[in-house]
Order: sequence, then C-alpha cells, then structure tokens
Amino acid sequence: MADTETAEPDAVPDTPVTGTAAPGTPGAEPAQPVACSRCSTATTLLHIVGNCADCLADMGLNHPEQFTEFKAQVLAKYGSGGA
Ligand SMILES: [Zn+2]
Repeated sequence: MADTETAEPDAVPDTPVTGTAAPGTPGAEPAQPVACSRCSTATTLLHIVGNCADCLADMGLNHPEQFTEFKAQVLAKYGSGGA
C-alpha cells in the first residue's frame, strides 16, 4: 500500500496580480494602429505624438527644424523630462 505523503506547499498567494493598468485607463487598452500625422500613409503601433518611427528618424536625420518642433510637441504633451 503506497500511502505517499506529498508535502505540497500551499504557497499560492491570495492576492491578485496587479501589474496591469486598471480598466478604463489608457494603459489597459491594447495598442491601436495610428495613422502618422506627418506622412499620413503609414499606420503604426509605434508613434510619438502622432509621428511614426520612420518620420522620427527622417526628421532627426534630415529635418532638424521639424525635429525641434517635434521635441517641443513632446514637451508640451508629456512635460519636460528635465531637459
Ligand atoms: Zn510617418
């Protein structure tokens, strides 16, 4: 007769995992593709203040005046990052 005693640790916490944003907050919704406000053709999940990553790179490399404007928009939307 095998009467094995399995010492099962009852270590499962009773508290729910609260690593995600609460329902109704922006972080709780899945990312939605957004049309780039600059090139207007690309829809992208990766965008900052409406500019797709391609445009960010293009601005940074080829259009410093637009990049300066973009940085001002970022500051206006998210506040100064101590810059
Ligand atoms: Zn773009």
